[in-house]
Amino acid sequence: MSGSAAQAGGPPADMRVDRVLVSAEQIAARMPVMAKEIAAGLGPAPKDPVLLAVMTGALIFAADLIRHLPVPLRLELATVSSYPGTATSSQGARLKGELPPDLEGRDVILVDDILDSGRTLRLLQASIREHAPASLRTCVLLRKLTESAKGVPCEHVGFDIPDVFVVGYGLDYDGYYRNLPAVHAMVPARV
Ligand code: 5GP
Ligand code: MG
Repeated sequence: MSGSAAQAGGPPADMRVDRVLVSAEQIAARMPVMAKEIAAGLGPAPKDPVLLAVMTGALIFAADLIRHLPVPLRLELATVSSYPGTATSSQGARLKGELPPDLEGRDVILVDDILDSGRTLRLLQASIREHAPASLRTCVLLRKLTESAKGVPCEHVGFDIPDVFVVGYGLDYDGYYRNLPAVHAMVPARV
């Protein structure tokens, strides 16, 4: 097999997992702090908060984060496709299916794994606003230090990272590596 074609039964061989950018310990320490910041942002009288997690990358982050949130809330999911297969730069975002129907009048916390070009979050923020929520806050585990990312409103950021492609802690490369406990940089494999 040659080029970037996937190996049968394994991750593509064209890229390899490299150094740790954010360790499991750093993530674990940040979760309760972020949760406190989010709870403080909701104020003393939250309006039936709903945490809307973007699949699939935010799955692990959202699961860890909500267990530190001391407020009654509901968990909902949104699915957006933006990095099909082995693409490592944003290909444009598309909402798959519908948003939960009952966002009106509620505090919405939008949770994603990473803010890169911002296409995904801009699309979701605009779609959520059409449902007239009481408030909308956005929360990401990672934000890349890019000009386009800086332009996207995002109230809660776990870690700012350099503009490199990363995997682990929910983030994938062609579906693989989501189960790594830390966030790693991916680099081209030497062939
Ligand atoms: P944006 O729309 O901001 O360009 O990209 C956001 C989405 O693209 C994220 O939800 C994530 O799924 C994916 N993405 C962006 N940067 C990376 C990256 O470095 N690694 C991985 N695995 N996914 C990324
Ligand atoms: Mg995503």
